[in-house]
Amino acid sequence: MYDAIIVGGGPVGSYIAKGLAQAGYRVEVLEKTTKNNNKICCTGIISKKCYDSFLRDKTLVLKNGRSAKVYSPSGKVIELNHDKDQACIIDRNTLDLSIANDAIAAGAEYYLNCMVTNIKIQDKSARVEFSRDNESFFSEAKTVVIATGFGSKLVEKAGLGKVNNFTIGTQIELNHKNINDIEIYTGRGIAPGFFGWLVPVTPEKALVGLMTKRTPDVYMKRLLSLLKDQGKIDVNQDTPSYRGITLESPKRTYGERLIVVGDAAGQVKPLTGGGIYFGLICAEIAINSLKKALENDDFSAKSLSTYEKGWKSKLGRELSICRWAHKLYTKLDDRQIDKMFNIKTKLAIDKALLESGDIDFDYHSGMIFKLLGFKTLFEILSIIRPSQWN
Ligand SMILES: Cc1cc2nc3c(=O)[nH]c(=O)nc-3n(C[C@H](O)[C@H](O)[C@H](O)COP(=O)(O)OP(=O)(O)OC[C@H]3O[C@@H](n4cnc5c(N)ncnc54)[C@H](O)[C@@H]3O)c2cc1C
Repeated sequence: MYDAIIVGGGPVGSYIAKGLAQAGYRVEVLEKTTKNNNKICCTGIISKKCYDSFLRDKTLVLKNGRSAKVYSPSGKVIELNHDKDQACIIDRNTLDLSIANDAIAAGAEYYLNCMVTNIKIQDKSARVEFSRDNESFFSEAKTVVIATGFGSKLVEKAGLGKVNNFTIGTQIELNHKNINDIEIYTGRGIAPGFFGWLVPVTPEKALVGLMTKRTPDVYMKRLLSLLKDQGKIDVNQDTPSYRGITLESPKRTYGERLIVVGDAAGQVKPLTGGGIYFGLICAEIAINSLKKALENDDFSAKSLSTYEKGWKSKLGRELSICRWAHKLYTKLDDRQIDKMFNIKTKLAIDKALLESGDIDFDYHSGMIFKLLGFKTLFEILSIIRPSQWN
């Protein structure tokens, strides 16, 4: 009997495994992949704050970043140059291995190639059923953490609700030609409702990707051809990879003997799809709630509801405001997005923001309000047609 079984050995699951194992609890991690050669589809951009708070492992960092260029659909550009590093690009595969190794060093047991198929809540334990090489097994624990990322059916099976709002991220690694800054591309022809990116990770290699709700291959071809025409990248050397990104949370993220954390719980920045920082913040909150439950031997839904209360009080308002802002953005056409770039030029918003030091890489709601101010907010709202509000 384990104290906790963690389903999913991504950054969030492994972080929780590490925290509980370090506190002396018996932890098992069940991961469906072998985590060996599969390149994880993720750009690996995190804030310095995320790195300093949770990671602090220099071997993870490919590059630091302090500047970005954001392109409008017609090619207008906003340049954001900060005097200090704001973000770092980390090697995502190394991140997963690094946190998992810390968890193993603290005593967590990892079992790879184990696909969890069902979780049964029993009187005195939770029974976790999984398959490995076509054989069925089960493990038992006092409590279970679902940290399965996007798309697992386990949350719905546990009766915590279904997530219907998601997008697809696609990415490819290729050679770039002297690109130094992160570049962001907007417009319905590139990534309707979202954005595309060109992120140099080494002097030669860059990640090119985008998010879209449908036909990612069509939009990817278009973005690659634009970047080729602009002389920014070399010809394709690889085929793109794909992964889903959850854009909402299930109805509940706790139940008897059970909590849901990370992408599986929709703890993702709605405007960028970034989930590493928010996932790790919630992992820390989860560790505290689980420790209390284990100390008190109380795994009732009421006891574990402190986890949801905790993460919602930290991130709930931020997620609501940014989900609303994102919903509005998805309705804008290219002409309207271009107009927003004009407003920023007219009111020198980027300069004002940089000077005020209010650009927060992680929390965008405060920035939305501070940045917009009443005058700009009015200008932006005036380009949105009444029919686009619903
Ligand atoms: C193209 C793209 C680019 C991105 N770029 C960024 C970025 O730059 N910055 C950022 O912060 N975020 C980024 N993200 C999002 C980020 O990758 C996720 O937020 C992050 O991986 C969430 O971590 P997690 O541990 O919750 O889930 P995951 O990393 O998805 O880990 C879940 C783990 O659970 C395993 N699993 C799933 N189901 C089962 C099962 N039934 N049994 C056993 N194991 C299971 C999976 O194999 C996986 O290892 C990007 C996403 C995409 C798609």
